[in-house]
Amino acid sequence: MSLPNSFCHQLVGSISQGAAGNPTVAMVEAAFQRHGLNWRYVNMEVAPEDLAAAVQGAWAMGFRGFNLSMPHKVTVIPMLGSLGESAALIGAVNCVVRRDGQFIGENTDGKGFLTSLQGVIDPKGKQVVMFGAGGAARAVAVELALVGTRKIIIVNRDPARGQELVDTLRDKTRVEAELVPWQGDYAIPEGTDVVINGTSIGLYEPEARLALDLDTLKPGMVVADVVFNPPRTRLLVDAEDRGCIVVDGLGMLVNQGVIGVQHWTGIDPDAAAMRRALELAMGV
Ligand code: NDP
Repeated sequence: MSLPNSFCHQLVGSISQGAAGNPTVAMVEAAFQRHGLNWRYVNMEVAPEDLAAAVQGAWAMGFRGFNLSMPHKVTVIPMLGSLGESAALIGAVNCVVRRDGQFIGENTDGKGFLTSLQGVIDPKGKQVVMFGAGGAARAVAVELALVGTRKIIIVNRDPARGQELVDTLRDKTRVEAELVPWQGDYAIPEGTDVVINGTSIGLYEPEARLALDLDTLKPGMVVADVVFNPPRTRLLVDAEDRGCIVVDGLGMLVNQGVIGVQHWTGIDPDAAAMRRALELAMGV
């Protein structure tokens, strides 16, 4: 490994599979530079069968922590000392922190989303429609439930996967949760405050359309997307045309990075500097 760690004080990593050129490296390192920390954030491509060795290696080499992408977010769990509350509920870890003599697994995806959403609305007591029931949707739905969202309607193509998320929400949190199998253009029900695309529809496809009756998007409704590239997805463009308040997935990605840096370093990093570095690295 050709790391410049002879002069580097601390290491943090990103353990991924097939994520060469990961733009979050530039984002996290921008925070280190901005705050005068001589730290490094390194991207490491690790095959699933090598994950346990990679985690042990990160421990042995004194890493302060690391991020994980799929499929490692789930398979890493038995390799860690303990889990934060939402990581345990979500069943996935995207951020590991060295603390109290162990690696602790956190999930900062949903918290990053929540920070963005709370910039425009307080979800407490609100009704939310969530498209999707995969990893991102689970993370967001659990965090929304934990901060007192009143009702979450999960709209998913695969009903079994949707039901699994609804069961978690009902069994482990106080939110009212309902499943709607996704068939045809979904009409947003009256009384909905927030609509979220938690699916991968739109990722790298600016014209990809969600099966949604756009006439049911009302002015003042908040419409958010977890998709971060392009930041202005077709859903957000259509929603803005109808007078909705939109929240992009790039903010979620920046905010989960901010929370990671807080966990690893104890500082409160400059989110705007991190977003600028990410946009530059992504070319958006
Ligand atoms: P998963 O594979 O776990 O889940 C994908 C979800 O999308 C499933 O609910 C799936 O439905 C649904 N889906 C995909 N294609 C279609 C389609 N054509 N029609 C209907 N439903 C569809 O992926 P993740 O949850 O990990 O990721 C989802 C998105 O979130 C990605 O774009 C990812 O980049 C983004 N993301 C963004 C983050 C951020 O910080 N902004 C952080 C993490 C993820 P079904 O269950 O029926 O298959």
